[in-house]
Amino acid sequence: MLTRDHRETWSLFIEFIEEKCSSIEFENWFAPIQVLPSDTDEIHLEVPNIFVREYLMDNYKRDLCAFLPTRSDGDPAIHFVINEPKKPTHSAQVVELPTKESHDDPYSNHSLKLNQFYQFSNFIEGPSNQFVKSAAMGVATKPGRSYNPLFIHGGVGLGKTHLLHAIGHYVKENHKKLRIQCITTEAFINDLVDNLRNKSVDRMKRFYRSLDILLVDDIQFLQSRLNFEEEFCNTFESLINQSKQIVITSDKPPGQLKLSERMIARMEWGLVANIGVPDLETRVAILQHKAEQKGLRLPNQIAFFIAEHIFNNVRQLEGALNRLSAYTRLMGIEVTEEVVEKTLSELMEQIPQKKISVESILKCVATIFEVRLSDLRGTSRTKDVAFPRQVAMYLAKELVNESLMKLATAFGGKTHSTLLHAWKKISGQLEKDETLRRQIHMARRNLEA
Ligand code: ADP
Ligand code: MG
Repeated sequence: MLTRDHRETWSLFIEFIEEKCSSIEFENWFAPIQVLPSDTDEIHLEVPNIFVREYLMDNYKRDLCAFLPTRSDGDPAIHFVINEPKKPTHSAQVVELPTKESHDDPYSNHSLKLNQFYQFSNFIEGPSNQFVKSAAMGVATKPGRSYNPLFIHGGVGLGKTHLLHAIGHYVKENHKKLRIQCITTEAFINDLVDNLRNKSVDRMKRFYRSLDILLVDDIQFLQSRLNFEEEFCNTFESLINQSKQIVITSDKPPGQLKLSERMIARMEWGLVANIGVPDLETRVAILQHKAEQKGLRLPNQIAFFIAEHIFNNVRQLEGALNRLSAYTRLMGIEVTEEVVEKTLSELMEQIPQKKISVESILKCVATIFEVRLSDLRGTSRTKDVAFPRQVAMYLAKELVNESLMKLATAFGGKTHSTLLHAWKKISGQLEKDETLRRQIHMARRNLEA
């Protein structure tokens, strides 16, 4: 472990810590830290001031020790280098000031800040997000000419910002001449406040209204900011009237936001698209994709295991994978179900306990479909038996609080994909088969009574 590359160790730690603390805390304390080269077991960290060192040691010593080599006194083996900001040299000042002052458009300094990982190419599609992804691609390929505005809403950690930035990347690559800006609503408000103070609101207005594409993240932060809402709404209308593209993300649909009717109506002009919680298979695909990117070997059944337990947020899935990857790399071990349970126990959601067992489901299904219990448990594939067996698998997945893998074992050593296949088939058939619906309804009533 000691011979490992310090940079890699540090980036594992950073991945881990980013999940653990708030983004503000992360930006303030962790993001500015640099790893310096060192040829000892000690990691050399350059920190901007002494407070960062104190803060790390006061709050994160245990985590640091988990990732870095430790000294015999129990401290992490870190050599801190304090990087006091250098006083600007005379020549630097001379160069800097005139350029700033001679700019008549302060916004030309506003570079487009996009997360480089948020691209269309690494956005995994599934039924929950296919529609919104194609809408986003439509907007990116033909800005201002497809849906305007495009309003993307959905819960936290489901990929809204990812899609917004993906549009940004695409436009930057493919429509180089178009003027584009991507901002969070917070940043827009801060900008406005600054410009009001500096009496430069007109410039700001000019800048925003000269854009071809405006990407706005987290519009819900505009709620109860009355003064800002009006300015935003004006900008919005001015752009839309010139057929300039606007894309907005939000944690709620427009109608549920506490904003003026005018603003809500504007946001409903174009296309309102929901991004949902990904289903099991999409979650597995996301895990596998991310594992591959990290060079982590993630067996299929483990991916299923994680995806079954972490189900309502992609960011949590990523967090789980980062933690798992750090742990297994540090320990030099393979990913197994046991390791997963150990490292991820707090992240795993506790599904409320129900007392229904596979055994009781089999009995109930045997009665309703008039087949022998031993046949249901057996391997016969005749339709009379295979179909009720699939119904039992469907019910087990719906009602029993166990992983797919455990359920599959309870069905006499089937695989989780057999179970999943059965579940899908029956779910599909339920939509069109009234008799089956009644049978399942009856089974559920018996079981849940
Ligand atoms: P939101 O803005 O909706 O809160 P983000 O866009 O920040 O969520 O997504 C959270 C994390 O999950 C990001 O790292 C993002 O890359 C990842 N993510 C979300 N959805 C997907 C997806 N479909 N495929 C790949 N990664 C995804
Ligand atoms: Mg977001």
